[in-house]
Amino acid sequence: MSKQQRGKLVVGNWKMHGRLAANTALLQAVAQGADELPADVRVGVCVPSLYVAQAQSLLEGSPVVWGVQDVSAFTHGAYTGEVAAPMVTDFGATLAIVGHSERRAYHRESAELVAVKTQRALEAGLTPIVCVGETLEEREGGLTERVVGAQLDEVLAKLSAQEAARLVVAYEPVWAIGTGKSASAEQAQAVHAFLRARLAAEGAADVPLLYGGSVKPDNAEELFRQLDIDGGLIGGASLKAQDFLAICKAAAATSVAG
Ligand code: PEP
Repeated sequence: MSKQQRGKLVVGNWKMHGRLAANTALLQAVAQGADELPADVRVGVCVPSLYVAQAQSLLEGSPVVWGVQDVSAFTHGAYTGEVAAPMVTDFGATLAIVGHSERRAYHRESAELVAVKTQRALEAGLTPIVCVGETLEEREGGLTERVVGAQLDEVLAKLSAQEAARLVVAYEPVWAIGTGKSASAEQAQAVHAFLRARLAAEGAADVPLLYGGSVKPDNAEELFRQLDIDGGLIGGASLKAQDFLAICKAAAATSVAG
């Protein structure tokens, strides 16, 4: 499948931000803006799991899909504070970020745990957005491909080719997240090409590959024009409707219809 045929996907990661009133305004604005985008640009938001019902009530019937930022490695049981993937699908959610670097770093999530969470998300019918990315130290040590390759391999090892084909993978260099310092388009494309080859070897060449890390309205288009960048996972800029929609429009400018 060609880059054009894959279309574009832009997903907001709200992280632990938002309150009921502010969410309403943001979700309504995103839904309205998404209505004006070409059909080959898909838009999603991953909200704090507590607000998934609010996302459902405000986004149902709009082209925007919604989801959460993590799921439990278990389906149910005595796991206080956890949210299971089937609970999330009860609210019409279709997306679940897994393995975000903040969870790997602050919650000590291992590559093995991320792989299990990916399986739970897939079993529940969610699309897992599997995040991979290297630290600055790893990049400077020439270890980028080794690190992101190992993170992806751990997940792929647990999946059939059919399951792997249902993933979305997000390359998010840790040093670019929330720092205002995005990877250059060339740096991002190089890693995406590497990930694409790895996925192709598993029969999953068409998995959407998102770039994440300080994507803003002014750098989105250049990033999205790269051959193997199929869209973005957007943190800070997804909290402002105007910025998020400008990034979605940049995706539209690089899509077939754009
Ligand atoms: C993220 O948290 O997934 C992210 C990409 O954050 P930011 O866009 O703020 O760098």
